[in-house]
Amino acid sequence: MEHKLLIIEDEKRISRFLELELKHEGYEIIAAFDGRTGLDLVNNEKPDLIILDLMLPVMSGIEVCRRIRQSKNDVPIIMLTAKDDVSDKVMGLDMGADDYMTKPFAIEELLARVRVAIKRKIASESLMPKMLEYEKLMVNDQKRQVTYGDDIVELTKKEYELLRYLLENKNIALNREKILEKVWGYDYYGDTNVIDVYVRYLRSKIDQKYNVDMIKTVRGVGYIIYD
Ligand code: CA
Repeated sequence: MEHKLLIIEDEKRISRFLELELKHEGYEIIAAFDGRTGLDLVNNEKPDLIILDLMLPVMSGIEVCRRIRQSKNDVPIIMLTAKDDVSDKVMGLDMGADDYMTKPFAIEELLARVRVAIKRKIASESLMPKMLEYEKLMVNDQKRQVTYGDDIVELTKKEYELLRYLLENKNIALNREKILEKVWGYDYYGDTNVIDVYVRYLRSKIDQKYNVDMIKTVRGVGYIIYD
């Protein structure tokens, strides 16, 4: 799977350089040039790693870092600091950044640290099976099983993946194109009606059966599960 990296750096020259190098390594790159936009992208795009400059317009890197951790998001963060900003560096680490690089940095070293951070993230995720839940509904990724209270909910592979995707992105209105891309894959040539069909299946197996209102329709957009 391609990992998505977010670069938050206001110096366009550095940002562009990082983007090219990291794309070359096979990462998908998104970029923001100020702290506020960067934070929005963290929440909306769920990157796998963030390269965060500390001196940023609108909202400082330190503040971005603090807010990410405050929202219980443990995405790896590699800070970029100017050479003599020792106090910023310490503060950044205190705010929960995982690592830092001092500018100017050797790109090979940054790429190595990105690889290490991603590897560590994958390892910790595999140790910690994700429990996704909604009221009494639980998705156990390790067993690939869905339960409602004491009942086992039998789902097909696509139903499972769709439910999982909706639960993983709770409180986010997911549009049909995005769902199709994530659950059915880039290669799927079909129209988005298939999603409505599968949502109907899930609703009959869960919402109607257990009398809950879990999957909500967002008119003109797609679907959402609220917390
Ligand atoms: Ca800067």
